[in-house]
Amino acid sequence: MEVMRSQKKASSALTSSNGVSTLTLYRSAPTLEVRLEDFERFAVDRLLVLRGISDGLARGKKPDEMDKLVIDLWKAHMRHPQASEVNNKDIISHFVLRLVYCRSEELRKWFLSMESTLFRYRFRSVNSDVHLSLMTELGIPYKVVSQKEFEDLREQLNLVARSANQPLPTPNGLYKVSFEEVPELVATRKVFIQKGYAYVALNQVVSFVVPHFRSHLSKALVLTNRKWTSMIREQEKDRLTPIVEALATSYLGPDYSQDKEVGEISLKDIDQVARTSFPLCMQHLFNTLRDDHHLKHGGRMQLGLFLKGVGLKLDDALAFWKTEFSQKVGAERFDKEYAYSIRHNYGKEGKRTDYTPYSCQKIILSTPGVGDHHGCPYRHFSEENLRAALGKMGVSSRALEDVIEKARNRHYQLACTLTFEALHASSCDAGINHPNQYFSDSQKILKEKNMSTD
Ligand code: SF4
Repeated sequence: MEVMRSQKKASSALTSSNGVSTLTLYRSAPTLEVRLEDFERFAVDRLLVLRGISDGLARGKKPDEMDKLVIDLWKAHMRHPQASEVNNKDIISHFVLRLVYCRSEELRKWFLSMESTLFRYRFRSVNSDVHLSLMTELGIPYKVVSQKEFEDLREQLNLVARSANQPLPTPNGLYKVSFEEVPELVATRKVFIQKGYAYVALNQVVSFVVPHFRSHLSKALVLTNRKWTSMIREQEKDRLTPIVEALATSYLGPDYSQDKEVGEISLKDIDQVARTSFPLCMQHLFNTLRDDHHLKHGGRMQLGLFLKGVGLKLDDALAFWKTEFSQKVGAERFDKEYAYSIRHNYGKEGKRTDYTPYSCQKIILSTPGVGDHHGCPYRHFSEENLRAALGKMGVSSRALEDVIEKARNRHYQLACTLTFEALHASSCDAGINHPNQYFSDSQKILKEKNMSTD
């Protein structure tokens, strides 16, 4: 795949029909020329699909709900105005995200899991010819069951299908594979086994194709990581590397640099709104600052930009930080060493960039060290500390167990969403993706409640 700055279009290497891509195994990077803007845009679109899948899984959606979700997400984000480019978009976006997500064990794990889920649901929606050609391409040894063999085994096959609540098998589309290929079906007793072969119906083929896909992708990610660290990162340091590095933590919603809907908050209200409307990550930083009169750099950045986003003006921000820090380091040292970075966050120093508050994704992927207080408590706190912090926030013991379970299963944003729902007695269907979204949604609910009681 060659990435270009020119306006030339990517060549169409694969056929597609009616804007719907065919399913591919992504065995090798395509020999395409890709415009730099497509490189990033296609990756962002695929990321929206994968994050939607991740959210659906974390919310415990059932297989039929996931079927619909995956189709809807794919339609919403992976279309292309030119039908001939749909497959290219699918393939390019997959390979770009391989680069993005090959770079750490944690990133690889997430990508592997989401791409395998995406493949599973897409596989279910394509026809049997595609199934067979993918099985052949994957080198899966299978035999077609002959009519005679089917008749000989019909009784046993029907018995297994009935007890597993499966449709009765037909002679067309019944395969024999080594039983080791289908541990999932064997474990759930959904196949008839004889002489080391499992008799698998076409609608069950997905259960052994997906592990092959997953294993291939897992190896490919490790190889991509080697190439990335030994070669690509350096070669592309001025062009692709910054895009690739930004994509893993990229947040795809509003930037909340100054939330117009919420307006301003003043210093006199800040303790009150911190209690009612700050998410746990920001409450923790805020309370630590009030108690210790100090925060290290990571904490100052995470809380400082959040406060800017919720509408704290620069003068108030300077006064707020100075009140706390001067108790620890003295007013003079605050003016000399710390005031600059606050003005910097507001775009008044240095490159005068208007910095945006951190998203959940970025905060969750941060790595706080000893003495740091930034990060996401659902990920970075011990279970004991998380329990104590949620109890202090006022989360009831019943809701608390659900939150803890989600955090334990690494669904940090969903744990935060459940906390929000428990504390506001209101649902948050979109889920929490940004601390400033938590604040903004909380304020809206509290204002509505206030108005209805006036
Ligand atoms: S999920 Fe997001 S908003 Fe909630 S605590 Fe973690 S980083 Fe903060």
